[in-house]
Amino acid sequence: MSYANQLLPREKVFRDPVHNYIYVRHQVILDLINTPEFQRLRRIKQLGTSSFTFHGAEHSRFTHSLGVYEIARRICNNFQRNFPSKTPGDGLWDDSERIVALCAALLHDIGHGAYSHTFEHIFHTDHEAITRKIITNPSTQVNKVLLQVSDDFPQKVASVIDKSYPNKQVVQMISSQCDADRMDYLLRDSYSTGTSYGNFDLTRILRIMRPYENGICFDMNGMHTIEDYIIGRMQMYLQVYFHPVSRSMEVILNHLLLRAKDLYRANQLEPELMPYLLIPFFNQEFSLSDYLELDDGVLNTYFIHWKKSNDPILSDLAHRFIDRRPFKSAKYDKEDLSTINKMKKLVAGCGYDTKYYTGIDNSFNLPYDSYDTKKEIHDGQIKLINPDGSFVGLSDVSDLVRVVTNKIVSENRFFFPRELIKSDEINLFSPMVEEFRKHIKNDHIINE
Ligand code: ZN
Repeated sequence: MSYANQLLPREKVFRDPVHNYIYVRHQVILDLINTPEFQRLRRIKQLGTSSFTFHGAEHSRFTHSLGVYEIARRICNNFQRNFPSKTPGDGLWDDSERIVALCAALLHDIGHGAYSHTFEHIFHTDHEAITRKIITNPSTQVNKVLLQVSDDFPQKVASVIDKSYPNKQVVQMISSQCDADRMDYLLRDSYSTGTSYGNFDLTRILRIMRPYENGICFDMNGMHTIEDYIIGRMQMYLQVYFHPVSRSMEVILNHLLLRAKDLYRANQLEPELMPYLLIPFFNQEFSLSDYLELDDGVLNTYFIHWKKSNDPILSDLAHRFIDRRPFKSAKYDKEDLSTINKMKKLVAGCGYDTKYYTGIDNSFNLPYDSYDTKKEIHDGQIKLINPDGSFVGLSDVSDLVRVVTNKIVSENRFFFPRELIKSDEINLFSPMVEEFRKHIKNDHIINE
């Protein structure tokens, strides 16, 4: 039997809080899970700074990746049971695609790093490019495992993730408006944060999902289940992913890494606080193995060291991050740049370097993209299939979804040190501080 189809002597299970059991039958899947590159995902939190707001959100990219694999596996099972292809090109499910789909599902986030979003911003890394590299570069264990399937298998798996793989059913299973990735993270993030917004009926969605010649569609009689999923997704963005305190901690993290990088480049970082594993990134010259050595724990350890720095900004920002002292924030109108400039001047007047002590941040998301003919089909709208075989787009039939379609959910925030409005924490009491407070009170909504 070929390695691709080689089954374990006995099925293996991983106990999971969201899916109960995650079933592994293929040797290649178990071998991928056991690579150092995949095990590294245990040490990277799925939601980064969100755990500063929702303390339960300590779950890792490892657990999410296994979850996406499990949902993809259930989709394959369902397709194979109910819609097996009989002749090539009949638009039904060809089960020889199962292994590439499962490997892509498992590995879709393998290139994520510690505090991904912020890290990428400061050091110009790109987790999608790194995902591709980990899969296709001969230096990795992941690549060695995939090569055992066939010479072109690593490339195939990478092409599913970058959406260029020819079988659109496989591509849409991993990335589309209603895919295994999003379904897992909504359920898992909802479970781990202890919120119920992201909950929806996964069992039923899997039941109404079906393959067709251009990808994946859903039975019309399951429309309300999909509506529930779309609304849940919007709620998670508004209530969890965009939470102002998590964003504030991300701003601090960003400024902390930036300060360390600036000091290093100016030759002012104390030798005993040197973050050796970050130096290749400070120099913008890093290899894949440099990248794979980083995780949340490594970064947090450096942050703890930096609390002792003689540089007042570095030690202060490290303290704010490690001991959770978020900046305060105020909403602002993105057209109104003069207000931002005025507030920045006031913060500077209070003695803060605005490069490291203020930030603006805009979060936006589309709860549901409408169908756009210019885009590839996989970015298009969720397709529902009528009993007579005709298709209709979700937002054409769902009033609920139409309301949120193409509606940008966004918020602009200005971040600043909390002492400026918390009088019990401030030593300096200057007219400048007075004015800043007045300004914030009159024009803005403060978020605790
Ligand atoms: Zn993912």
